[in-house]
Order: sequence, then structure tokens, then C-alpha cells
Amino acid sequence: MSVIDTPHLYDLAIIGGGAAGTLTAIGVLREAQRPLRVLILEPDLPLARGVAYATTYPEHLLNVPVAKMSGFAAQPEDFLDYLQDVQAFPALDRDTLAHRFVPRQHYADYLRLRLQQTAAASIAQLQVRAEHVRALQADAEGFTLALDSGAQLRARAVALAPGNALRPLPARGAGALPAGKRVEAWDYPAVRAISPAADVAIVGSGLSMVDTVMSLLASGHHGAIHVLSRHALLPLPHAAGPAADYDPQPLLAMNLRQRMRALRRHAAEASARGIPWQSVMERIRPLGQALWQSLSFDDQRRFLRHVVRYWDVHRHRVAAPVHAQLLTLAEQGRLQVHRGRLQAVVSEGACVQLLAHDIRRRPLQLDVHCVVNATGVEMRAQAMRNTLLQQLLGSGVARPGPHGIGIDSAPDGSLIDAHGTIETRLQVLGSLRIGRLWESLAIPELRGQAAHAATTLLQQLQP
Ligand SMILES: Cc1cc2nc3c(=O)[nH]c(=O)nc-3n(C[C@H](O)[C@H](O)[C@H](O)COP(=O)(O)OP(=O)(O)OC[C@H]3O[C@@H](n4cnc5c(N)ncnc54)[C@H](O)[C@@H]3O)c2cc1C
Repeated sequence: MSVIDTPHLYDLAIIGGGAAGTLTAIGVLREAQRPLRVLILEPDLPLARGVAYATTYPEHLLNVPVAKMSGFAAQPEDFLDYLQDVQAFPALDRDTLAHRFVPRQHYADYLRLRLQQTAAASIAQLQVRAEHVRALQADAEGFTLALDSGAQLRARAVALAPGNALRPLPARGAGALPAGKRVEAWDYPAVRAISPAADVAIVGSGLSMVDTVMSLLASGHHGAIHVLSRHALLPLPHAAGPAADYDPQPLLAMNLRQRMRALRRHAAEASARGIPWQSVMERIRPLGQALWQSLSFDDQRRFLRHVVRYWDVHRHRVAAPVHAQLLTLAEQGRLQVHRGRLQAVVSEGACVQLLAHDIRRRPLQLDVHCVVNATGVEMRAQAMRNTLLQQLLGSGVARPGPHGIGIDSAPDGSLIDAHGTIETRLQVLGSLRIGRLWESLAIPELRGQAAHAATTLLQQLQP
């Protein structure tokens, strides 16, 4: 390893320049009272794109309306203000725009502009390096970070925000499929490049499947589209309608079974009064983390085993017109949804065979030209194929989170190491906190975590 040189000494290193890392940098730059040296390490520039906002295709929409996507809880209309300031949708009045689901690419542009503006006004100095961090060690003075380039640097504090990783295709033979026959759903240009005549099988039926279908349609696809998933549940639509007026607090004292029953009852009562069930979900949305944390460990495990698929389709919804498009495609027979568990994929000439078992363990075979992996976010940190996370877990700097998902963190976001010691100088953000918080992926949670991490880290950096 190369020798540490003093120019590589930073007050704060932010690992990962997706939405969470960018929001943390904004928080620190805004609040800093001294000329701190802040560094963002992100191999995949420009900043703020990560997986979600890297798409430049207009068919990939935010799954939350504009009014709920501000990066800052204290300025709830900030994303709306931004879209109006840059005249992204000049034909729409403010109220209409607030309720729109706009293309995701705007979000990265928004966060980057806010970062630039904040950095320009800050006493702290921001640097960005196009680097992947592959290892981190803690000592009494701070941290040593080893980069893929072979360089090392020192930081007094760290924000760890490496974000989302796609689950590998869960099938024998997947690794041997040639490029073009196996496409990752988050490789947006590769999905767009699928031949319009190809028969396609999409594995997974969540939001990444929806992105894939929308891209196929946008590129004039006319082949068959199969969707294969274990539960064959498609995301449900958002709905406009009156707010539900029930108090969700009593749910916190109930066990999982009682909660599910109560929620079903509330949803049925709401619909009987002309209030969509989605409004009931909106009422419990702010309680997402408290609901998870107040479940017993066993009930959390039951939720992960038996409830999560149903939860996901109700919680992670799509814009109503997108949902209507999916239903139309299904009615026309262009989109065929199969319930089954994928076992193996085999390359056969120009085709790919997907070998699965249906719900009764009968063989199910799909013959297509291309398979798209849309199995969604990997929750187990060891399986994320991120060298840094493997090193952190392997060396005991970190330990897996509850239920083996994410890595462990204290309620304030501080890392917990393999001995249970809380490391306040290292703040964890985003999907890595999922085992402790469950709701830790979307912008409302990330902006809260980023603001909190900024305050905590600045306290740590006080002379
Ligand atoms: C397809 C998709 C669509 C979504 N749509 C929405 C939406 O509409 N609304 C919403 O609220 N949420 C949405 N989400 C949730 C989304 O997870 C968050 O909004 C947000 O993008 C997550 O940001 P992040 O910074 O935690 O992770 P990411 O966006 O994944 O960014 C992490 C960054 O860290 C970098 N990195 C990783 N490892 C290292 C390392 N070792 N060294 C240096 N850098 C590293 C990566 O290159 C990446 O750029 C969506 C998620 C996905 C996957």
C-alpha cells in the first residue's frame, strides 16, 4: 500500500455519492462553522445519481409525487421550487406539478444543484474524488481508507452511504449466460437495447420490473413479455382521494397478526366511506420505523418470511397511469405473469430457457431470447458484492444487522462493530440500516438520516 501523505487528510470522508451521501454533504456544508475539509468518494460520477436516479430515460418515473420528494424536511416544497425555478415543466401550474410523478433524472439534477449552491456558500471545502473505497480501518485518531486506485487517505470522521445493490439472478447457470441474453434491470441502456422483437422474461415483479416494461414499450417492443416471480404480485397504484382519519398509534402496541387484522379492517371501513385504502397506508407511512422497531424479533422474522411481499406491493406503489398500462398489457396478453420459483437458466442457440417450479412444484418452462434480472434490492450486506462491505464485516469493523440484513447501527446511526462497540465517528445511512429500521430506503427517511448524521459528525469534529 502507498504511504499516507498529508494532502490526503480530511475531516470527513463520505463514502458513496448517491442521494444519501449528497444530502449528508449538503447538511455538513450548511452547518459547518469552520473550514473543514469534506470529501465525497464516488466512483460513478456525476454525483447524486446512485442506482435510482442514474436513469436518463423519461419513462422511469419517481414513485412518489413531487410534493413529497424534497431533500429537506424543513423546506418541504424544495423539490417543487426547484422544478419551477428551472422551468422543467413550464406548461404545468404549481398545484398540478406538486401531484405529478416526474422522470427520476430530475432528482439527481436537483440534488447536485443544491450541493453546488451550498458548497459555494459554505466555509467548509468540498472535494469529490472518482474513487471506490475498498477498505477502512479505525484507530484512535480517525480512519484510514484504502481506495481501489491503491491510494490511501485519512479522515477524522466517516459517513457510510454505499446504497443499493441488485440481487443476483437466483438461478443455476445465470453466470454463464452471455451478455445480451442476461440483462440487469438497473442497466438502463442495456434494457433499452433489447431487440424490439425479442421475447423477454423478467424475473421479479416489483418496481424494477415496472421500469423494465416501460423501457421495452418506449423502445417499440412487440415481442412477448413474461414476468416470473414467486408470488406474482404486481405493485398496486397510488390513488387520489380523501385522507383517512384514523389514529395509527394503537398499532404500535399490537403483535403482527393483530396489526394485519386491524389494517385490513381500517382499509375496508375506509373504502366503505369512499376513502381509498391507499390513504390508510399513507397514515401509517410516517410510523414505518416505529412499527418495525416495536415488533418482537420473532414477529419481525415472520414479517420477513410471510408478509413482506404483500407489504411491498401496498407500500411501494406506482403512478395510477403506469398501473393502468400494466393491466392493459396483461389483458391484451402481451404481459404474462407467472407464479413460480426459478431454478435454472440454460442458453440454447439464440434462446434462453428458464426452468422453474410453479406453486405446486410442477415444472414451468419459459423459452425466450433474453432474461432481465429485476429481483430488486439485496438486503444482506455480505451478498452485496461490495469489497468495502465484505472487508468491514470480515475484519469486525462492522457486524450484520438484525436478521442478517444490512449492517448493525445504533438508533442514532452510529456504526456498531463486531464487539458491540458504538462508533459515533462513523455514521451509517440508507439501505444498510434496514435490519434496525426497515424503512430506510426512500427520500423521506434518507433526508432525516442525512440531517441527523451531519449534526452528529459536526459534533464529533469539534476541536
Ligand atoms: C430503481 C429505484 C427507484 C427508486 N425510486 C425512488 C423514488 O421514486 N422515490 C424515493 O423516495 N426513493 C426511491 N428509491 C429508493 C432509493 O433507494 C433512494 O431514493 C436513494 O436513491 C438511495 O440513495 P443512496 O445514496 O442510499 O444509495 P444509492 O443511490 O445506491 O447510491 C450509493 C452510491 O454509493 C456508491 N458506492 C457504493 N459503494 C462504494 C464504495 N465502496 N466506495 C465509494 N462509493 C461507493 C455507489 O456508486 C452509489 O453511487 C428508488 C430505488 C431504486 C433502486
